[in-house]
Amino acid sequence: MSIKRPFLTLQQAEQIAAEHPTPFHIYDEAGIRKTARALNAAFAWNRGFKEYFAVKATPNPVILKILREEGCGADCSSRTELMLAKAVGFCGHEIMYSSNETPESEFRQANGQGAIINLDDITLIDTLKDACGGGVPETVCCRYNPGGEFEIGNFIMDHPKDAKYGMTRPQLTEAFRILRDVGARRFGLHAFLASNTLTEQYYPVLAQILFETAVELKEETGVAVSFVNLSGGIGVDYRPEDAAENIAAIGEGVREAFERILVPAGLGDTALFAELGRYMLAPNGALVTRAIHEKHIYKEYIGVDACACDLMRPAMYGAYHHITVLGRENDPCDHVYDVVGGLCENNDKFAVDRALPKIRRGDLLYIHDTGAHGHSMGYNYNGKLRSAEILLLEDGSTQLIRRAETPEDYFATLDVTGYRFE
Ligand SMILES: *Cc1c(COP(=O)(O)O)cnc(C)c1O
Repeated sequence: MSIKRPFLTLQQAEQIAAEHPTPFHIYDEAGIRKTARALNAAFAWNRGFKEYFAVKATPNPVILKILREEGCGADCSSRTELMLAKAVGFCGHEIMYSSNETPESEFRQANGQGAIINLDDITLIDTLKDACGGGVPETVCCRYNPGGEFEIGNFIMDHPKDAKYGMTRPQLTEAFRILRDVGARRFGLHAFLASNTLTEQYYPVLAQILFETAVELKEETGVAVSFVNLSGGIGVDYRPEDAAENIAAIGEGVREAFERILVPAGLGDTALFAELGRYMLAPNGALVTRAIHEKHIYKEYIGVDACACDLMRPAMYGAYHHITVLGRENDPCDHVYDVVGGLCENNDKFAVDRALPKIRRGDLLYIHDTGAHGHSMGYNYNGKLRSAEILLLEDGSTQLIRRAETPEDYFATLDVTGYRFE
């Protein structure tokens, strides 16, 4: 059981809210840099190590710029994510393009930016060739789906056989041969087999699978991989009872597999890549929202000014996000509430039956761990407008890095005349 501490005090939050009304997502620059440095230190033993931050988790250029300063690349999977990466200055092999069901135009764009293209399927080789004028880029990566169940020990982590991603094992061999024959020279191998894992074994077990596959592929095709991409999937301690991941231990576990499998096979120069999103950003962001109502019916409700449009994970996955009532950190949690937003959907609940201190109207609630897959999953259902994003800089000042949406934004795509929205 750990105590989940906000990176903001009540006083700081009220000061920010005086200028930028709630709700807002706020990110902690110091925490982001610290996380990136810990990851890079954990894999410093691998000369080519690079984290390609999964842009979809937090697609804000100011955040991406901080990560780039810490040596990270960008993992993109759409046209606009590529545009974002370019705008921040990521170029060439600083960009990984890990998409699926990819339109030809996006391969063309990614190739134009010099990105490393990660192929989700063998049939995409033809799409890529069409996009690149008949050939393929010199460097290319293939995504592997081993099928079956993905187990660690006797525990089933996920079901790759039901996942739409990646190539089968025979397809992988065939794809390497085809790509080799049409001119690819540097090969990568990628897999993403479980999300939000909380075991130090995830990366090492995944690494073992990919390393063994790389050795087999070398025997079968003569192709020595240049890099292995362990992708995303390292989780965070959303719940107080979760143990935070020990990234140093994860790095050591991967090193052990590397030295046991790749080095003896003559693949000791292989670079390791990651595409972490959640691990990098989730704990370094929070959603700050104000209690605006209380309601006493069959249950006790606290209504807040944020809703699932600002943070979809609880409604979508039943995900737990810890809540701290700012300024009441030391009060006993002797009330049980549902903390709810204003959508006309009964799953719009940030917390259900949650023990919290007594909440009064006007209190600021700090919803933890929203820095990844938080604002970025936002939407406009019920005509709700997406919140602002704010950066808490290392010197304690704040910067508005995305303003809140206005009704004008909401109506801007209605390409019609003759209506007035006021
Ligand atoms: C979503 C995604 C990631 C990031 O996943 P996290 O769970 O945020 O670490 C990385 N790579 C790919 C291809 C993804 O789709």
